[in-house]
Amino acid sequence: MSKVTKDIEAPLAKVFRYIEQEKNNFVENLKNAVSIKSVSADPNLRFEVLKMMNWANNKLKILGAEVELCETGIQVMNNEKIELPPVLMGKLGNNTSKKTICLYGHLDVQPADISDGWSSEPFILTKRDDKLYGRGSSDDKGPVLGWMHAIEAYQQTGTELPVNLKFIFEGMEESGSIGLSELLSKRKDTFFSDVDYVCVSDSYWLGTEKPCLTYGLRGMCSFGVEIKGSSKDLHSGMYGGIVFEAMSDLIHILDKLVDHKGKILIPGIYNDVEPLSEKEKELFMKLDFNVDNHLTDIGVSKPLKETKEDLLINNWRKPSLSIHGIEGAFSGSGFKTVIPRKVIGKFSIRLVPNQDPKKVSDQVKSYINSIWNSRKSPNKLKIIQSNDGEIPWITDPFNSHFMAAHRATEIVYNSEPDYTICGGSIPITLTLEKITGKSVLLLPMGAGDDGAHSQDEKINLLNYIEGTKLMAAYLYEVSKI
Ligand SMILES: [Zn+2]
Repeated sequence: MSKVTKDIEAPLAKVFRYIEQEKNNFVENLKNAVSIKSVSADPNLRFEVLKMMNWANNKLKILGAEVELCETGIQVMNNEKIELPPVLMGKLGNNTSKKTICLYGHLDVQPADISDGWSSEPFILTKRDDKLYGRGSSDDKGPVLGWMHAIEAYQQTGTELPVNLKFIFEGMEESGSIGLSELLSKRKDTFFSDVDYVCVSDSYWLGTEKPCLTYGLRGMCSFGVEIKGSSKDLHSGMYGGIVFEAMSDLIHILDKLVDHKGKILIPGIYNDVEPLSEKEKELFMKLDFNVDNHLTDIGVSKPLKETKEDLLINNWRKPSLSIHGIEGAFSGSGFKTVIPRKVIGKFSIRLVPNQDPKKVSDQVKSYINSIWNSRKSPNKLKIIQSNDGEIPWITDPFNSHFMAAHRATEIVYNSEPDYTICGGSIPITLTLEKITGKSVLLLPMGAGDDGAHSQDEKINLLNYIEGTKLMAAYLYEVSKI
């Protein structure tokens, strides 16, 4: 790793010292945030999401921000109408000679239960070996608190905040950010009119050692293939050998989507994939990424590609198709000789620049229909698409905004950042870019092994504290552009 040592300017050094001193309080704040079970996918926990939004609202108020909890309407879930949690929008400072930075983060989390295999209670922040375990510690409560603590550090040390800030903290990110882009679009000419740069902290380092800046995200489209065979579930003793079985039809289709080396078999799917530029290739070569460690972490022995570059190109710059599950199939333990009446196979495709979700969806549908026609089954096929899909995003990692974050990273970590693309999607990135027309940067706080949506999610104490310094340094550096 290339070592870079940068002098820390006096105001920033003061801010860093404060962050160091307040370490324990910052962990305590994270503990309080993690204890709120703000699982957006669970309607029974919606009140906790609301509690979380109010908690953050108060924190921002204490920092002197002008805040607003913006209503986003109603959501229909299992035929029931429930209220969406409000989006927290705020601003701090309106000095026209300063740059205005818009920060985005989310305060809702993925579901978690100790019975899923957690080593400690997911909603009780637990410290083991300088790692802070708890749902939301890394995704995304830690980073949201990081911003608040960075501001606090400026204020408490009497250091002038070098920029104006705007905040968008939402409570539905893990459930598709319902209502968010409509709300933000309406405020294009008001809230966003003076925004110069946008910073999203909701991604991770590639590995565990080296910081990075993220300049791209894959898009996605999700599908369900429904096959209906009979009006009720059947006993295989009585009906096996009599009926065309829905499950066999479904497995036949699913098996034709992707080969064992991960190549998608849908005709035309690779046609629009943007080739890698020479400059980008260089970034790939520099990446600090240990394939073996990455695989050991997840208990996998052999990767789909041999080299680091090929694997990352496969993950970041080529589409991938994953099969997730089958609804309606028997999945309990033991053996049950049932022939399911209706099954839905679920899969998704991660998209890369310049793929268009609409075009991909047409390709998927026509391919599945052609397989189905040659299958000649009397069963009923229906192809379901979960939504319109998410468009992939990529930006120029060499612009002045990225360079400011690059300098901030060097100041805090004494190392150049890697430039990464995130294999997942954060649709808000594209929305914010479209609405503001300004550069959007993804500034990760957590490490690649944080297990954002898994059991034992954690954030390293180092990432949490240095990451807070990084946020403070980013605001400092971006004010100089
Ligand atoms: Zn997140």
